[in-house]
Amino acid sequence: MEILHRISINSKKDAKFLAAIYQLQIRYKAIELPGGESSLVTFEITESDQRWNIIANLIALYNAVNIVETIFSEEEIRSAAWLRMICVFEQGYPQPRMTWPFNQPDRELLCPKCAIYRQIAPMHIAKEPHLGRKAFMTTILTHEILCIPAVLQGLQEIQATGYEDWDVILHKTGQVSQRVRQLFIPTVARPGALLDEEHPRTVCPQCGTVKYEAHMRGVLPIKSDALLPNTDFMLTHEWFGSGYFSWREIIVSNRIAQLVLDKGWQGIRFKVVEIV
Ligand SMILES: [Zn+2]
Repeated sequence: MEILHRISINSKKDAKFLAAIYQLQIRYKAIELPGGESSLVTFEITESDQRWNIIANLIALYNAVNIVETIFSEEEIRSAAWLRMICVFEQGYPQPRMTWPFNQPDRELLCPKCAIYRQIAPMHIAKEPHLGRKAFMTTILTHEILCIPAVLQGLQEIQATGYEDWDVILHKTGQVSQRVRQLFIPTVARPGALLDEEHPRTVCPQCGTVKYEAHMRGVLPIKSDALLPNTDFMLTHEWFGSGYFSWREIIVSNRIAQLVLDKGWQGIRFKVVEIV
């Protein structure tokens, strides 16, 4: 398990930070910002890196944007009984985009304030997506899992349970996508995701639903009695997100992770879940 930080700074405002990165020989990317006077500089570093302590101090000093993620090794993934499955390849917006998340043909909103929802029909996307070599994708704003038909075939071959194979609709034409299907997960686990008391959350003033900020650091502990029997896929009972962003984390069994790794299907990452 490695804690990875993705840090962004401004080449002009944070010039001394940039000089330190240069001196520490950390590889970075720079994109010129509008106006041409400065660049957005981004780089990655893990906490096991010898240079991390210096960078951690600079992040605090310069109040730099820092996105934390936990990267698990293949061995850690293959030996975990349960994992979170997170799609990391986004293509386009759910449709219709302008009114999202309201008036979506696929969603019944359970609360108009925090936009928790139930999917009741196939989701709409703008056009046939370009997946390249990816087998999985999601859209910007949502966490639904779309995949190439070969994935569903693979799941069928191992007789996986707890998922449904749904159409995805091309919004303009109303046709069914030939490139992607939705891997729909109907089962919701019992309450049991154990988030730290300090883990940031919001409580909806209208419906009282607690929404946790994304869990990015380390393993997510889940109580064993939250898991339902005889299913390879489940959604957490708990909601995550903020504002109109709402999702439930996807929990999968070990054999789903093994299948994805064996097949080399790209576009998702697995995060170890600790059953307590
Ligand atoms: Zn609400």
